[in-house]
Amino acid sequence: AAKHALQPLAPFRAEYRQAIERRTDLEQHLRVALQRHELRVALQPILHVHDLQVMGYEALARWIRPDGQFVSPAEFIAVAESTDLIHPLGRQMAHLALRALTRPGVPEHTCVTINVSAVQLGRAHYHEELTAQLRAANVPPNRLILEVTESAVINDQPTARRNLLALAETGVHIALDDFGHGYSSLKLLQMLPFTIVKIDAELMRSGMRDPTFLRAIIQVASATGASVVAEGVETDEQLRTLRDLNVPLAQGYLLGRPQLVEFPPDTLTKEAP
Ligand code: C2E
Ligand code: CA
Ligand code: CA
Ligand code: CA
Repeated sequence: AAKHALQPLAPFRAEYRQAIERRTDLEQHLRVALQRHELRVALQPILHVHDLQVMGYEALARWIRPDGQFVSPAEFIAVAESTDLIHPLGRQMAHLALRALTRPGVPEHTCVTINVSAVQLGRAHYHEELTAQLRAANVPPNRLILEVTESAVINDQPTARRNLLALAETGVHIALDDFGHGYSSLKLLQMLPFTIVKIDAELMRSGMRDPTFLRAIIQVASATGASVVAEGVETDEQLRTLRDLNVPLAQGYLLGRPQLVEFPPDTLTKEAP
């Protein structure tokens, strides 16, 4: 009887094997793509709600394979995080994001945010590497914002915390990403010097049906003294709600989609680590 019960699992095993094969294929190709500096950066604007001026840009990794196939960041970031590839990926993204800031025509006050994963923050020398990159790019630390998720800080607390405190000391801003998603711990808001809290896009969506919870989350985030950014703003109605709730900053398709940055091709491979 027990043997019988297991039989329906056979098709699942085939799917599971396919998933593993896909992952292995992605890992091999991602490794090559990083060696060749084929990853690119897209910038999405973060705007002041009151006058719609640009405060800065979030840097988002983009991978278009040589055959033209687009791989979603959610998929390749997960592959990178489960291997050693997240370190070169993170360095290349920081390099591209900082370079994007120093292009002609970008105002001096504009900031850039980069996403940093738990695996990167778990390395003791992360803060030194990033500080060296800032110096090499000649960008003042206060124009850089690090976006970290809760899990990034909770998984390897002591080292992650040390890295973030050391960077905050130099003037780099720390943002708590996806706040209001999953189990948001209020304790964490007290433990680290976040200057920005980003409200999760899903909470924005559900907040349009019933704003009670959204309003409470925004109040908690603001009470820490951090600037609140609402993510995933897609409609005028959402923007009006943000004005009513006195949310200072917003990001989303309504205000600007992520746009690929074009760099002169020859300068890339020479400078990137
Ligand atoms: P995230 O950090 O929460 O980034 C926001 C995601 O929402 C981006 O997806 C962005 O394109 C998308 N988005 C922006 N505005 C809207 C909107 O109005 N509506 C909707 N539906 N979506 C919107 P993307 O670029 O696919 O990135 C997915 C995730 O991959 C990011 O989520 C982040 O966790 C991760 N990621 C991307 N680039 C990097 C990177 O360089 N390093 C690390 N560690 N993670 C990255
Ligand atoms: Ca982010
Ligand atoms: Ca986010
Ligand atoms: Ca996310």
